[in-house]
Amino acid sequence: MTQVGTADNPLRVAIVGAGPAGFYAAEALFKRKELVVEVDMFDKLPTPFGLVRAGVAPDHLKIKSVTKVFEKVADRPNFRFFGNVELGRDIAVADLRHYYHQIVYTTGAQTDRYLNIPGGDLPGSHAATEFVAWYNGHPEYRDFEFDLSQEHVVVVGIGNVAVDVCRILCRTQEELMGTDIAEHAMEALRHSKVKTVTMLGRRGPAQAAFTAPEAKELGEMADCDLIIYPEEAELDPLSQQALAEADRGTLRTVELIQEYARREPAGKSCQLIIRFLVSPTELFAGEDGRVSRMQVVKNELYATEYGTMRPRATDQHEEIPAGLVFRSIGYTGVPLSDVPFNEKWGVILNEDGRVIDPDTGSHRVGEYTAGWIKRGATGVIGTNKPDSVETVDKMMADLAKGVLLQPEKPSVAAAEAFIAECQSCYVTFADWRKLDELELARGAECGRPRLKFARVEEMLAVLGK
Ligand code: NAP
Repeated sequence: MTQVGTADNPLRVAIVGAGPAGFYAAEALFKRKELVVEVDMFDKLPTPFGLVRAGVAPDHLKIKSVTKVFEKVADRPNFRFFGNVELGRDIAVADLRHYYHQIVYTTGAQTDRYLNIPGGDLPGSHAATEFVAWYNGHPEYRDFEFDLSQEHVVVVGIGNVAVDVCRILCRTQEELMGTDIAEHAMEALRHSKVKTVTMLGRRGPAQAAFTAPEAKELGEMADCDLIIYPEEAELDPLSQQALAEADRGTLRTVELIQEYARREPAGKSCQLIIRFLVSPTELFAGEDGRVSRMQVVKNELYATEYGTMRPRATDQHEEIPAGLVFRSIGYTGVPLSDVPFNEKWGVILNEDGRVIDPDTGSHRVGEYTAGWIKRGATGVIGTNKPDSVETVDKMMADLAKGVLLQPEKPSVAAAEAFIAECQSCYVTFADWRKLDELELARGAECGRPRLKFARVEEMLAVLGK
């Protein structure tokens, strides 16, 4: 047999997960001029692009234009998309070993970090990840319900996801018209009674996890006053000291926060309140058994021996109304069947992208990972590019040493026949393009940028599958 990676014997790679990390890994493989590679990309959903479709906020359409880069990758003759094919449900890792020399897991971080406080699981207290997936039309969350008849919403955490959630709750229907928010969410928000949304930051303004452009957007909503209490916008001496060495982004965020704290409310219909140095301690139910109030504790900051600023509870408590709660304290990964996983960190066990066998401590031959499921839920979409390149570098180093899986049937036709046997309704990239065109056309009919299909059956039906 000729060398793997040549015209006679292409390197066959399976990428599991069609989000940014998966596409950047495919792009990095295709960029290797010396290499002949065939990439088959799998996703449990019929639609590609992962969090770009199901996570990025519907009013951030510009960020979503990164899909143009991914479409270019998908246009390569040696690229195939197998949507609606789930690892663990339709196919197994052991199956992939028959058809591919290398496997890359890029399944992202699909769930939320747990907030362990009494009452945390009361009805009406949700993971922000569920709300985000719901308003973005993720089919698995299509039938979730959120009680928007409540006047007071509390969002725990002040990262960019929390900011997204708050904007969607506070935007007017006119503002939402210009977004690709799912129609069922748009309809539910049309009847929303939400009047105040309170975001809870456990540390101070100088440690806010949201970024300056996102903070700026919060102050520019059409019918929502942004409120920050002046005493909470003030920096404690430790933060003031830390700010002397802070980057421009942090300085701008603090500047914006302090500017907002000086603003007089304009009497708009909705109020977004950003609190600092408070942590939730308990959720209480009302008579109907649903969450109605939250107890919070005031924190103070202290510096650890590594110089980071941590929150410490004081003895000052208060209660705030909370008819609906979203926990937005970070995403975490979900284990894949037969793939080593580190529960504590919520990532696939790996070293710079090479999957590690926990029993031997050595590399599981032919298995790799990239993106949030490799390093945790940090950074923006573009951060995944160098991350995927690092993984592909390791894959190339192993290829050069001949450290690969030895598939019995390394051919496109054999893989396709096998996949069709396991999931007859698999979706190709050409199918996705049809769905894409239909969604854009449906949107144009009602003056929206896109009207998403939010049920798998609906997508398969319009594709005639
Ligand atoms: P994140 O940036 O890690 O923010 C998590 C927030 O939760 C922080 O404010 C954190 O506070 C807080 N938190 C954590 N544990 C807590 C606890 N036990 N009690 C109270 N608060 C707690 O996570 P994320 O917002 O989910 O975002 C994930 C990644 O996606 C980030 O890198 C983000 O920048 C990115 N993203 C970017 C955009 C964009 O570019 N527009 C949009 C969405 C997401 P501490 O800081 O004190 O830990």
